[in-house]
Amino acid sequence: MSENKETQEKESGQKMVLKASDIDPKFKYEISKIPGSEKVMLCFQCGTCTADCPIARFDDFYRPRKLIRMAQLGLKDKLLSDDVIWLCSTCFTCIDHCPQDVGIASIVRALRNLSVKERDMPVAYKELASNIRKTGYAYIISGMRLKKRESEGLPSLPKADLKNIAKLFGTTGLSKMLEKVET
Ligand code: SF4
Ligand code: SF4
Repeated sequence: MSENKETQEKESGQKMVLKASDIDPKFKYEISKIPGSEKVMLCFQCGTCTADCPIARFDDFYRPRKLIRMAQLGLKDKLLSDDVIWLCSTCFTCIDHCPQDVGIASIVRALRNLSVKERDMPVAYKELASNIRKTGYAYIISGMRLKKRESEGLPSLPKADLKNIAKLFGTTGLSKMLEKVET
């Protein structure tokens, strides 16, 4: 961890004004039942995750420590409606460095899953998912690029199992969510 990073952590944006109605006291239990998120209550707010997070370094709003605190406090609606939860790159730096082994990246994933269940997901993610469904790859790879690979003597890309992908999308309900971006 860089020197004094945690003391440099700035809580950005406006001060959050909380009302009793914002708090869902059961939320921390809901979160801690999700695999990978069991240790949410062990966070003692040391700030190491925020200090070392590459996204927090470049974004004034993304603060993993704050997300965990909000989860502990039961600020369910605020968390699930905040697009900031989609900024985590799942690099796992915080997981490696957390002294309490809190599993922040897994908790952020749990928040995203809950957010998708109750609301929606950002269009950019839907577009990536749509590409995966159509081609097996998150990004559409152009014919020109494939030809270039061939001319460079690189092996052809593995063929995706689109049948199984479709099954997975159907089972998880992702197909339904994609209807809006694919029409
Ligand atoms: S999640 Fe871990 S690293 Fe982050 S503030 Fe809590 S205890 Fe510290
Ligand atoms: S996994 Fe997410 S929260 Fe953790 S360090 Fe990486 S970007 Fe930051």
